[in-house]
Amino acid sequence: MRARELKMYEKLLLERRAAIFQEVERMSSAARQATQREASGELSSHTFHMADRGTDQSEREKVFMLSSKGKRYLFHIDEALRRIKDKTYGKCHQCGKDISPERLKAVPHARYCIECKEAEEKARQR
Ligand SMILES: [Zn+2]
Repeated sequence: MRARELKMYEKLLLERRAAIFQEVERMSSAARQATQREASGELSSHTFHMADRGTDQSEREKVFMLSSKGKRYLFHIDEALRRIKDKTYGKCHQCGKDISPERLKAVPHARYCIECKEAEEKARQR
């Protein structure tokens, strides 16, 4: 795969990765606001500066907040980013052929070509 293509998929993967962390940020800020309301009892004029906290929340803490599904997704994205660095990205883990660009654009962290993926799914149903 050409360097330019690798760069494009890397960008796609990084965008998806950022979206995951944005979602966690949104969830944690909603949780913070709920805590803040509870703490203030809605009546107190006392201002809590809790919203300032968590802006420097570490990536590790964010990962901790992810569901197991989210963690697995993130893991696959990180693995795909590693393969981009290794220059092994875009090759099917099963048959070694190139994964089609259409598939990589839809699922940039794909490890298998569509044929192997379908074969594997069929085998699982049996
Ligand atoms: Zn394959």
